[in-house]
Amino acid sequence: MTLDAQPSAPSRSDVPEDTVRERPLHRPVFTSGWSGPVATGDLTIDEVCAKAREEAEPVAEPAGEMAAEPVTGGAEPAAPTPVEATPAPLPPTPQARARAGRLQLNSTDAAFLGVEGTFDPKYLSIAALTAPGTEDWPGHVAATVLLQGCPWRCTYCFSPELQDARAGGVIPWSRVEDELRARRPEMDAVLFSGGEPTRQGALPEAMRIVRDMGYKVGLQTAGGFPGRLEKAVAQADWVAFDIKATPEGYDAITRTGGGGRRAYASLDMLVESGVDYEVRLTVDPVTHSQEDVLATVAEIERRTGRSPVLQQVRAEGVKPLYAEALGSLCLADVLPDDVRPDLVRH
Ligand code: SF4
Repeated sequence: MTLDAQPSAPSRSDVPEDTVRERPLHRPVFTSGWSGPVATGDLTIDEVCAKAREEAEPVAEPAGEMAAEPVTGGAEPAAPTPVEATPAPLPPTPQARARAGRLQLNSTDAAFLGVEGTFDPKYLSIAALTAPGTEDWPGHVAATVLLQGCPWRCTYCFSPELQDARAGGVIPWSRVEDELRARRPEMDAVLFSGGEPTRQGALPEAMRIVRDMGYKVGLQTAGGFPGRLEKAVAQADWVAFDIKATPEGYDAITRTGGGGRRAYASLDMLVESGVDYEVRLTVDPVTHSQEDVLATVAEIERRTGRSPVLQQVRAEGVKPLYAEALGSLCLADVLPDDVRPDLVRH
């Protein structure tokens, strides 16, 4: 669908200019006037452990020390009766307390501890909410909710500040809901992105709430969590899926292990789901050879029956070392326009 096909959709120029940045992202966010708490309900792992210790049963003094009586008079002091020390009970672990329902964890800490967390959107770590625009979701005027945290460390990542899963959020979910209600006439869609949005267990519920507001809901993902992606896809009208390489070539881009298996399992699931999607392949001139790109395109076409959209890496926001290596290299240096001219290039 094209933007032209939606005459009622407002143009980007209709969007008010009240956009400011809450953190050094490379897209504007509409959070002007927001001066509330920095995070809502997110606990750092140190805080989780400290809370667990505080709420633990008091630890009894060792019995052996308690049994020592003071000696009185001139009588021969009786030999102290040896009392066997009983080991002090250990405080329950955060995992045990969470499983017993006695510790409420946000999805970040739940993922870190490997337990089920509280999948209420109020525990989402939200890094930013962008102003409505037409760039992220073709054919729609969409605001984008950027969720904090990503398991990968891609060479060309232009939002490295979103990678740290422990950083917590800066915008409460209630604020996002308020903004989306207020801006309903200006936009028709909301895109959830990141970081890797499926990292957070509360994502599907957040998508459902936004859908109930009457918005189209999109998801931008690289498929690092196939199980969680399945739940999110069930709430999505459209998915932008980032493939990074052939399965074997993943680690060179993500600089972490096992990403290829997860990403392609996610892609297969997405194809099966029947939800509308677009596959994107960012060509990294520093890492990809032409053969790598063509092999990746062929792998995507084999699995999905459609071709990916090729994307240029963005120099803005990347780590300085990568920017230096990239120099003036671009997509055409890896895949000239006359090689696979049928492929869409952005
Ligand atoms: S998957 Fe996306 S957010 Fe995560 S490191 Fe790669 S480019 Fe950055």
